[in-house]
Amino acid sequence: MKNENCIFCKIAAGEIPSATLYEDDDFRVILDASPASKGHALIIPKEHYRNLYDLDDALASKALVLAKKMTLRLKDVLRCDGYNIVQNNEEAAGQTVFHFHMHMIPRHQDDKIGIGWKMGELKEKDKEEILNKLK
Ligand code: 5GP
Ligand code: ZN
Repeated sequence: MKNENCIFCKIAAGEIPSATLYEDDDFRVILDASPASKGHALIIPKEHYRNLYDLDDALASKALVLAKKMTLRLKDVLRCDGYNIVQNNEEAAGQTVFHFHMHMIPRHQDDKIGIGWKMGELKEKDKEEILNKLK
């Protein structure tokens, strides 16, 4: 299904031009317009899913396999030292385009790109609460 107000539906369908690195029946892989680093790319399914919560299971599996394939190739092309795969769900987590996508962000040693968090401490109370609620 497509969403006619969704920019990534239009990009994935080729209705809006993009710097496409790869395309198959299910996905288009494009360069991000506001890259965190040189080569920052997005894996975008051609069908519209708001985010991971409603992504089709088979497509979810294919997306990770594609991320592996793309990063293996791109790390040689870009000569980067590492990769972050980032995937944001909902506004609170930084999602700004509400069509599922995975970021592939090339990293170089000491590049100071701000993807991360201040490490906290796992509290016994939190651990017990979460484990109990999941039972
Ligand atoms: P999010 O914050 O939803 O995880 O990521 C959205 C990403 O899409 C951002 O990194 C943003 O730069 C990128 N983006 C938004 N609009 C466009 C566009 O029209 N073209 C391309 N190539 N990237 C876009
Ligand atoms: Zn869409």
